This record gives sequence, C-alpha cells and structure tokens, in this order.
Amino acid sequence: MAKIRYSTPIVEMQGDEMTRVLWDWIKEILIAPHVELNTDFYDLGLENREKTADAVTLQAAEAIKKYHVGVKCATITPNAQRVEEYKLSKMWLSPNGTIRAALDGTVFRAPILVDGIKPYVPGWIKPITIARHAYGDVYRNSEIRVDGKATAMLTVNYADGRTESKKIADFPSPGVLQGIHNLDSSISSFARSCFNYALATGQDLWFATKDTISKIYDHRFKDVFNDIFAQEYKDKFEKAGIKYEYTLIDDSVARLMRSQGGFIWALKNYDGDVMSDMVATAFGSLAMMTSVLVSPDGNYEFEAAHGTVTRHYYKHLKGEETSTNSVATIFAWSGALKKRGESENNSALIDFASRLEKATLDTISAGFMTKDLVSLFSKEGVTVVPQSSRGFLEKIAQKL
Ligand code: NAP
Ligand code: MG
Repeated sequence: MAKIRYSTPIVEMQGDEMTRVLWDWIKEILIAPHVELNTDFYDLGLENREKTADAVTLQAAEAIKKYHVGVKCATITPNAQRVEEYKLSKMWLSPNGTIRAALDGTVFRAPILVDGIKPYVPGWIKPITIARHAYGDVYRNSEIRVDGKATAMLTVNYADGRTESKKIADFPSPGVLQGIHNLDSSISSFARSCFNYALATGQDLWFATKDTISKIYDHRFKDVFNDIFAQEYKDKFEKAGIKYEYTLIDDSVARLMRSQGGFIWALKNYDGDVMSDMVATAFGSLAMMTSVLVSPDGNYEFEAAHGTVTRHYYKHLKGEETSTNSVATIFAWSGALKKRGESENNSALIDFASRLEKATLDTISAGFMTKDLVSLFSKEGVTVVPQSSRGFLEKIAQKL
C-alpha cells in the first residue's frame, strides 16, 4: 500500500535519554511503515544544545511559529549534576520553558483512559483536563541569595519616568528572595484559550488561584478571567449548557477529589505543573497523559508530560531490558499528525492517527502493557503479559 503523504512539514524535536530511544523506535515501528514523514528536524538533545549554545531550541520555537504544528520528545533540564555529567559550559534553561515563552499560550493535559485501568480516586469516572498557563511566574523568576543583614525592595521603573517602590522585607540575617511577573496580555490569552477549549469540548471550566493571599498578583488573574468571561463568553457558555466557576485553589483541590471529573481545571503555571502530575498519576501513570501547548495565534506543540526516564536509560545503556511506557509519546505523534491532517483536510492522515491511538489502547486492554501499568490493570478474562519497551511497540504494530 502507498504511504500516506502530507505537504507542510511538522516540526520534530528530538530529545534525551530513554525517551530519545523510544522516539526513534516509535517512528521506525509505528509511523514510518504507513506515513511518508515530512518533518523539519531539530535535535534538542543536551549534547546538541551545548554544541549550538542552545540556539537550536530557539530555532525550533521559530519553526513552530512558521509551520504551526510541532512534536517534542522529553528533554533534560540541566541541574548542577547534569552540568558535570555532560561537561556543559552553562546550565542551559529548560527547553520547554524557552519554547513556551516564545509561543505563549496554555498547556492542556488530559489523562488517557483505558478499559481495565481504574483511577486511584474511585469517584473519578470521567477525565479531568488540566489547562496550565505556560508563561511567567516562577518559571521566569529572578532570585537572589541574601547573604547578610539587608532590606529588600520591589521597584518598577516605568518607561515614562515614574518609579514605584515597596519594601519586601527587612532581612535581620541571611535568607532568600525571589521576583516573579506576568503580563495582562498573556493572562488574557490564557483565559481565552481556556474558554475556547471548554466550548470546543463541551466541558465546564474551573479556574483557581490564591487571590485571598495574593491580593494584586493572583487577583489580577481572577479579574481578567471574570471580565473576559462576562464580555465575550457568558452567552456562549449558556447556549452550550456549560459553566465557568472561579474558586480558591485549596477549595478547588478539595472539590476535585470529591468530583466525578469531566471538566477542565485551569491553573497558573506552577499549580498546573504540580497538579497535572497528581491527576495523571491518579488516573494511572505519568505516561498515560496527553500534553499540548496551544498558543493564542494557533500554534500547537505536542509532547509527553513526563521526563526522559533516566533510571530506565541507564539500564538500557548497560544492555538490560527496559519496560518504559511509550503511550504519551505515541499520543504526542498522533496528536501532531491529526492536527496536520486537519490543517490540510487530509482524511487519510487523520484516520491513521486515530487508528494508531486505538491500536495502542486496544493493545493494553488486551493485556499487553509496560510494567508501570501492570499493578493497576484488572479486567475479567484478560491475562496480563508484561512487555519490554520495544516489545510493547511491536504488539501495537500488530494491531495496527
Ligand atoms: P521522569 O523522567 O518523568 O521519571 C520519573 C520516574 O517516573 C521514572 O524513574 C519512572 O519510575 C516513572 N516514569 C516516568 N515516565 C515513565 C514512563 N514513560 N514509563 C515508565 N515509567 C515512567 O522524571 P525525572 O526522573 O524527575 O526526570 C528525568 C529527566 O527528565 C530530568 O533531567 C528532567 O529535567 C527531565 N524532564 C523533562 C520533562 C520534559 O521534557 N517534558 C519533564 C519532566 C522532567 P521508576 O523509575 O519507578 O520506573
Ligand atoms: Mg512537571
């Protein structure tokens, strides 16, 4: 059979460690036999980021703006230990942070539900989608180690010459200090992405911050959401029979645990990072979650929400067999292929992406899965057969 073709490239970003290995195998075993891949390729592996002084990450972000669809493998965010391990000239920034800052927008993360895997929270019968703001706050912070008695000030120098200053704290002894920011424009596009996504999927939207404590910063988020909702979305939500609700973050967490799921939970950048790991794990595994960055001007970047699975990679390097779950990375590819199919009205490509997802889920519900899922799975009449990383992909290929 002829391979499926499409005309506009997809931006492909290769990454690190075990996910780098899975990336090549997914292409070889599941995609290349069916699709004539046309990608604009960037190697975001740490060695190449070092070689290019991280220019490759910015080039990849620019390419996503040009071609509007990208797919990214997990990458190492260097810390002191990685600087040593990879002999880095600098502790390069998180590639995800760099790309998100360049594209702005919102990261939507939804659990991948499989027949046979029950969530740890028995009440959650429908998926919970996290909408994570992808700009600013602690991810673009400025920090100072205060090493003696001091007074710390917060100062704004306006372009028109005004200045505004406030005392943060008197330091009687050493401590730490952090400055964070956000922009009305970014908060507004975050709000619109969330309202649009709620309408597109017919789900209620919850938004939560800590505005009782953060009376200016978090309160601004709340006001922007409320204003945009009242002016642009209230009628549309009523027509669609869905609701928008603002709650305090702690109240929201408590209500979430008692809910049945089936809604979108919009969160600030850090809250979204932490809570998406919690929700993904509760629904099964970090590797059973889709993640897509949607920018306000219509760019899509698909990725897995988990990391490079370092521990498995070191086993792999020693020649030992691994059992690493590739589902999130497969769904990153299927998401990108589907989006490209939609942008080109290419029903063969859209259909392939859907079949790839179905084959993946059917493989698991037939009992073939990686070890992380084994203890979670139970289905009458189905015997679990644990798979190696590569064996799992080969099982999916058979179904496909
Ligand atoms: P991680 O790679 O997500 O792995 C943490 C643990 O979770 C693994 O050791 C494994 O547990 C389990 N796990 C995660 N993904 C799995 C999968 N696909 N299949 C099976 N088990 C899986 O997080 P990390 O160890 O904290 O970080 C490793 C590197 O990834 C770091 O350098 C970090 O900077 C980077 N990172 C990148 C991204 C990204 O690019 N999106 C996100 C997070 C972290 P067991 O060991 O118990 O099997
Ligand atoms: Mg995280």
